[in-house]
Amino acid sequence: MSEHCSSCSSDSCKSCGDKDAKLNKTLSYIKHKLVVLSGKGGVGKSTVAVNIAVALSLAGKRVGLLDVDVHGPSIPRLLSLKDEKPHIEKDYIEPVQWSPNLWVMSLGFMIPSANDAVIWRGPIKMGLIRQFIEDVVWGDLDFLVVDCPPGTGDEPMSTLQLLGKDAQAVVVTTPQGVAIDDVRRSVTFCHQMGNPILGIVENMSGFVCPKCGEVVDIFTPGGGKALAEEMNVNFLGSIPLDPEVVRSGDEGFVYVKVHHESEAAKAMGRIVKPILAMSGSLQDGTKPLVVEKPQAPQKPKGEKATMKIAVPVANGLLCMHFGHCEKFAMVSIDEANKTVLGTELLTPPSHEPGVFPKWVAEQGADLVITGGMGARAQSLFTDAGVKVLVGVEGGSPEEIAMGFMNGTLQTGQNICDH
Ligand code: ADP
Repeated sequence: MSEHCSSCSSDSCKSCGDKDAKLNKTLSYIKHKLVVLSGKGGVGKSTVAVNIAVALSLAGKRVGLLDVDVHGPSIPRLLSLKDEKPHIEKDYIEPVQWSPNLWVMSLGFMIPSANDAVIWRGPIKMGLIRQFIEDVVWGDLDFLVVDCPPGTGDEPMSTLQLLGKDAQAVVVTTPQGVAIDDVRRSVTFCHQMGNPILGIVENMSGFVCPKCGEVVDIFTPGGGKALAEEMNVNFLGSIPLDPEVVRSGDEGFVYVKVHHESEAAKAMGRIVKPILAMSGSLQDGTKPLVVEKPQAPQKPKGEKATMKIAVPVANGLLCMHFGHCEKFAMVSIDEANKTVLGTELLTPPSHEPGVFPKWVAEQGADLVITGGMGARAQSLFTDAGVKVLVGVEGGSPEEIAMGFMNGTLQTGQNICDH
């Protein structure tokens, strides 16, 4: 039982003391607690929280994602979990499962509609945050990532008090001066609360040109880094503005899971790397980070193994958008000798959302190679166990498959336009 009650500030309150026992028990199963803060709203705090949580889970970690942004819970939308409801019992709540090792809890699951305003007085909000930490059966977690409301008010303060002094803050800012001033307050706030700052993230730093992929600076860059140096805290990295980040948020798929080749996803990967290192994962054999670009398999010579590569085709050649293809060519490859064993031309079922990925997986394909594919479809293929390679510009299915096996296949932009 805690000596100091975080609810009523008394050292000897019996009922709150009992509550702390439950809180402490829940927290004792959580190895690392990360609180994502920002000085003001709209800087990408929730986006960063979601992408950190998903990247950690894709690296094999057991992760909880808690949304305590009581007035604007956006995590259910960002993860396509809007219609999910947690299972609530008298004395515990089961979080919503997003993947085998990522669990989510948000007030957004409880309010009837995203349009409903939450008008609650302080104590009710504080009680809810406490409940979301101690009553949720998070189980053994490597990381609990908490998305806090912006600012340095009651909610972030309660969150840090409840989580304890070992909860580490990730402070998100944008390059503009006002946001930088706001983040200064967030850093001071953490110091005053006695919580360590894991580092500052500068989001929306430069713009990724959708045509050429180059990063163009809009605001003077480097403010986050300079501020980190001045305030003697770590700078975790800058994430550029990328229209795909907005689209991924609106459509509810996770950016790092789908756009792993993009500048913004690489930046997010660099931010997650030291976080993963905290759990010793870079030494303990855990996968290094997020989904990687598929590589041709390296099997010992002489071992008979076949790989199946699906290529969408029209008139016998690669069809630039897989959703408009007449047929799928299923090219079987002898992996050891890197030779084509044969090609089957199959007619896909009608093009409805979610149908192609399942069907391609059922045909035994390991990989689909195409010119362009929407991010949501890529996510569905990955979930069905089929890897995806986009940005290929043309050729016959056999040429493409052999180019992939020999490592000579050229890839460019994902030219999907929807
Ligand atoms: P906050 O939690 O700070 O209020 P959000 O994560 O909700 O901010 O992001 C606000 C908006 O900015 C969302 O529409 C989101 O998609 C967008 N956004 C966040 N980061 C980026 C980025 N790096 N590039 C483009 N848009 C971004």
